[in-house]
Amino acid sequence: MGAPLDVCIRGAGIVGRTLALLLARDRLRVGLVEAPAPAEARPDVRAYALNSASRDLLQRLRAWPDEQHATPVQAMDVRGDEGGRVRFGATEEGAPALAWIVEVQPLLTRLADAVRFQPQVELLSAPQPAALTVVTEGRGSATRDEFGVHFQVTSYPQRAIAARLDCEKPHGGVAHQWFDDGHVLALLPLGGPGGNSVALVWSVQEPRADELLAVSPGDFQLRLQAACHDELGRMTLASERMAWPLQRAQADRWCGPGWVLAGDAAHNVHPLAGQGLNLGLADAETLAQVLHGREYWRSPGDEKLLRRYERARKADVLAIGWTTDGLQQLFAQPTEPWSLLRNWGMRGFDRSGPLKHWVVRQAMGQARQPRTGRP
Ligand SMILES: Cc1cc2nc3c(=O)[nH]c(=O)nc-3n(C[C@H](O)[C@H](O)[C@H](O)COP(=O)(O)OP(=O)(O)OC[C@H]3O[C@@H](n4cnc5c(N)ncnc54)[C@H](O)[C@@H]3O)c2cc1C
Repeated sequence: MGAPLDVCIRGAGIVGRTLALLLARDRLRVGLVEAPAPAEARPDVRAYALNSASRDLLQRLRAWPDEQHATPVQAMDVRGDEGGRVRFGATEEGAPALAWIVEVQPLLTRLADAVRFQPQVELLSAPQPAALTVVTEGRGSATRDEFGVHFQVTSYPQRAIAARLDCEKPHGGVAHQWFDDGHVLALLPLGGPGGNSVALVWSVQEPRADELLAVSPGDFQLRLQAACHDELGRMTLASERMAWPLQRAQADRWCGPGWVLAGDAAHNVHPLAGQGLNLGLADAETLAQVLHGREYWRSPGDEKLLRRYERARKADVLAIGWTTDGLQQLFAQPTEPWSLLRNWGMRGFDRSGPLKHWVVRQAMGQARQPRTGRP
């Protein structure tokens, strides 16, 4: 390309690629720094619950995977440890789906293809000077440290085990979640509406995580079937098991002169509500809107401008962080009165009508109104 860059994005994950495409559409010259793939890179077995706002964004960028890799969730069934239960349905919300379960690798490939066909984006193997540097390097970002940002981390004594499983019974478009004994187990439907495979996210305390990763596939399957009360019949591992340490984290500053953070480089939340990437995609969309709406004399790296983005996003991120943290804490308490309280709360919430409806709408991303601090 040769011309100087307007924006250099460091980190070509889902958030970095999405932002590159958004800014390129706005005629900005973008450099996207890709880290070299590790020698023993293993395909990511996760699948993400993405809300309708994220779906709309990725569809506009022509990066939404085909329906085999983006399964609509028609209903959600959440169970507590003492009979508490909450059910959500897309029909009750008058929506085509509550969320979509999107496989990570196909989504990354769609985004990579879209980036390759975008002449405004240059793929880089090392950072280059630009009016604005955007850090989208994920939770372990090194550039964030170089900018002197304090990343305040609260570690949960848990790891999330992810895997794919084939099931005896079809999932019927239902996502299941169990809160039990401090653990959170989610089975997310895969393979399209008629599929019978699921993505597992099982957040368990540290010693048990080691054990579940070490046992034979057969033993693991039996323990999983017992934990989900044989909901989908016999289950067979269709991938290896992978695990992620869990944390809640927040950068103390999101921007400075000529630089800004987005996605997991700025914030991490517990995956129990499936919101981390939804937040990161909302960051990308809001940052692109702020840059688009800047006064003609402002550079993309103007700190005042970047503060508008930080203000617009922080409240949303804090609210999700508190909610997921609160739920995690509430279900981590093994004794009464907590166990009674949470299950009583779940039953009450299930019957709460407008409150339940409002919460579902928030999670679906339908209330997402970018607040950029400008008209
Ligand atoms: C078990 C689990 C389940 C989850 N489920 C959901 C869900 O259902 N829904 C949801 O919305 N979210 C979910 N999340 C959260 C989601 O994974 C993250 O929010 C999302 O991946 C963040 O994307 P990102 O692009 O910001 O960061 P990342 O995905 O971490 O990408 C960062 C990229 O930057 C690259 N990089 C790092 N350092 C450098 C460098 N120095 N130079 C260049 N490149 C660099 C990395 O290689 C990587 O490609 C889940 C998380 C976990 C752990």
